[in-house]
Amino acid sequence: MMNIALILDADASSFYAQANQINQFLQLSQLTAESLELWLFSDEKPQSLPRLDGEVTQIRWVTTPRLAEARIAVLEQMRQAFEPRLMLFAGDEGGELATRLACRSGGSACCAVERLHINGNECRVTKAVYGNHLTAELAMTREPWCLSVARSGAASVEIGPSPVVAQRFKPTKIADAEWLLASVSSPQPEASTLSRARYVLAIGEGAGSAQQVAQVQQLASNMGAELAASRPVVMNAWCEMDRLLGMSGAIIAPEVCIAAGVSGSPAFAIGIRHSKFIVAINQDPQAAIFAQADVGIVGDMHEVLTALSDAL
Ligand SMILES: Cc1cc2nc3c(=O)[nH]c(=O)nc-3n(C[C@H](O)[C@H](O)[C@H](O)COP(=O)(O)OP(=O)(O)OC[C@H]3O[C@@H](n4cnc5c(N)ncnc54)[C@H](O)[C@@H]3O)c2cc1C
Repeated sequence: MMNIALILDADASSFYAQANQINQFLQLSQLTAESLELWLFSDEKPQSLPRLDGEVTQIRWVTTPRLAEARIAVLEQMRQAFEPRLMLFAGDEGGELATRLACRSGGSACCAVERLHINGNECRVTKAVYGNHLTAELAMTREPWCLSVARSGAASVEIGPSPVVAQRFKPTKIADAEWLLASVSSPQPEASTLSRARYVLAIGEGAGSAQQVAQVQQLASNMGAELAASRPVVMNAWCEMDRLLGMSGAIIAPEVCIAAGVSGSPAFAIGIRHSKFIVAINQDPQAAIFAQADVGIVGDMHEVLTALSDAL
């Protein structure tokens, strides 16, 4: 019997982004489950919910303090009560919850997983490792399998009234964590507007200087595109930090991404690989970015972008 629990924080500002990540994961993994349950941390009975790929057979919601320690204790109670074999998490907290829950329940954990395949008593997961230089396939046997899913692009999951009535889970008293003397919740950063942009102009160190980046910003506006950047650009303070794409920044999924003056390093490439169409502009015909592009233009990015902006 394959029981799956999807665990989301319904009160987090990233709730629908988390749901979208789980949804993309379900689509890639093509899991078949006898029972697919949605477990929600929520202060109130959830009304509108994301429509996930796969029939959710049960929705359970539970109110807990926003503390990993309290949530893990509740999740362990729910795990014992409903016995899922697979528990899927998303979001910034997801990795911590998955790892600590697996440790507590004697199961196995893996973070930032892209897809999985279950064969009998083995769960095989695929994930990017070594800064996206390699893709690893790892086998896990000890259950429950506690996984956090990889970050992905724009939130496109549909939202609507739930066809299944949500049941409240009332945990038994949670032991005080005496060692936890104080806790502070840091404000959650606003989701970058980049994750919802339809057209993105992503620039790299080839842009040259802060002045040239300001000119490119103007061209991006003319083209109706949002400006994004690789790490050297933001580290040089040529543009704002929230423009960063890649492993340490945003992951985008626009209709079109123009990548200009970027070499295409794996740490950057992970940020744009969900784009539907990629145009690469680089003066080096051997640049790695061309391997990822649908269209490649060898030339000076400033000349090409100016011509493109004039033509549009
Ligand atoms: C732990 C870790 C995390 C990292 N996370 C990130 C991350 O999240 N995002 C990220 O971007 N990087 C990240 N990096 C850095 C990453 O490894 C690369 O160093 C970085 O992406 C390179 O940026 P770039 O392509 O802009 O610069 P470069 O590699 O210097 O490439 C510049 C490119 O511009 C071309 N060029 C130069 N002038 C022109 C011109 N006039 N016209 C056209 N082409 C031109 C050159 O041919 C070259 O290909 C991370 C690194 C580490 C170790």
